[in-house]
Amino acid sequence: MLGKKVVMFFVIILLGVSLLASAQKGKLLNGKIIVLDPGHGGSESGTTAEGITEKKVNLEVALRLEKLLVGSGATVYLTRKDDRYVSLEERVRLFHKYNPDLILSLHHNAKPYDPAANEVSVYRPSFPTKEAKRFSKLVMQELVKATGNPRGALGPANYYILANSKSLPVVLAEPYYFTFLEHLKLLKKPETWQLEADAYYKAIILFFDESVEVK
Ligand SMILES: [Zn+2]
Repeated sequence: MLGKKVVMFFVIILLGVSLLASAQKGKLLNGKIIVLDPGHGGSESGTTAEGITEKKVNLEVALRLEKLLVGSGATVYLTRKDDRYVSLEERVRLFHKYNPDLILSLHHNAKPYDPAANEVSVYRPSFPTKEAKRFSKLVMQELVKATGNPRGALGPANYYILANSKSLPVVLAEPYYFTFLEHLKLLKKPETWQLEADAYYKAIILFFDESVEVK
């Protein structure tokens, strides 16, 4: 009888611990609204090399990131969830409609005239909100850490979606180059898509942690 009681005791303790752990995990991003914007889609492939398109990789990363964010309690909207064309105007309209806490536009770089280019680039609007500024720095930090690629441009850019969303916490990131052969090899692998999603996820968690100071 004693044996049974002891086993029951440990079962209850284990249940309690795992329930607590999952509740805490679920609460990290509760109430947060995040928009993911996988660049290009449909007739617009973005950069293409060796049969792999930028639009596909952007979407693969976004879907993996969506899963992580939803798992932590966030409400996530995607400007596209499959391979379809969405105009830049429509993307901006969706950004404003959802009035989110964060917007992340996912892209990949190309510089055909400089095949050695391999740095991480992260952009925000000129005169960004303080949230866009904070988020852009965290995204750069985590992408550099995860990819091992050198730190590249971090600052304002005049892309349509940024220029028309100045009042919103929007960041556009490009972790790898389609025109750099080592990167192209990696971009074909689901492991790399997951690695990018994990890095963005970490940046988002850090963004909402008010104890994290960003210089
Ligand atoms: Zn792109």
